[in-house]
Amino acid sequence: MKLEAHVPSGPIDKKWDRHRFDMKLVNPANKRKYGVIIVGTGLAGASAAATMAELGYNVKAFCYQDSPRRAHSIAAQGGINAAKNYQNDGDSVFRLFYDTVKGGDFRAREANVHRLAEVSVNIIDQCVAQGVPFAREYGGTLANRSFGGALVSRTFYARGQTGQQLLLGAYQARCPPATRCSR
Ligand SMILES: Cc1cc2nc3c(=O)[nH]c(=O)nc-3n(C[C@H](O)[C@H](O)[C@H](O)COP(=O)(O)OP(=O)(O)OC[C@H]3O[C@@H](n4cnc5c(N)ncnc54)[C@H](O)[C@@H]3O)c2cc1C
Repeated sequence: MKLEAHVPSGPIDKKWDRHRFDMKLVNPANKRKYGVIIVGTGLAGASAAATMAELGYNVKAFCYQDSPRRAHSIAAQGGINAAKNYQNDGDSVFRLFYDTVKGGDFRAREANVHRLAEVSVNIIDQCVAQGVPFAREYGGTLANRSFGGALVSRTFYARGQTGQQLLLGAYQARCPPATRCSR
């Protein structure tokens, strides 16, 4: 069997930006005419569903457990990494990319890991906007810790329930008023 990842061509740090630019846009007024089916309600599916719904698409998400919250993501504890470099300890998109590829025993798809590292900073902002109660310093800024042997502190966390809190944030995300659904 041939595995075809459909990773776009070009230099690794440009592949996905270029691909997004090359893709056809959908007129905002037409998005509600499209139905999107998402299989899975873990962090991948729930985040995709929240994002697509916010853009105005009609989204239906499916899972095979008795409840969407039975997805394995509910068990994630330690936190979510992002190259915000809030601690000024030498972090960067490339360092997060490098650490993640190495941490995955060099078996991950590098282009996709790079994209994840690029958008990691936005993911944290999106989760905060969705109401995820990340740990904070006494001054109110988001706290970070070093996790999984990383030499920098880039992990955003919500006690020992990060996966659960991220899921709840995605599940409770609202559609914009113009496209508001009945959730
Ligand atoms: C104990 C534990 C701790 C972890 N801690 C961390 C951590 O601290 N930080 C971190 O980054 N990662 C952590 N991870 C890893 C991380 O949680 C997972 O990689 C991530 O949550 C996977 O998300 P997902 O949406 O891809 O998959 P899942 O959450 O497994 O969701 C898969 C979804 O697909 C659905 N599905 C599957 N097959 C079908 C089908 N045939 N038809 C319909 N639906 C289907 C399921 O119902 C489910 O909703 C941890 C994992 C575990 C188990």
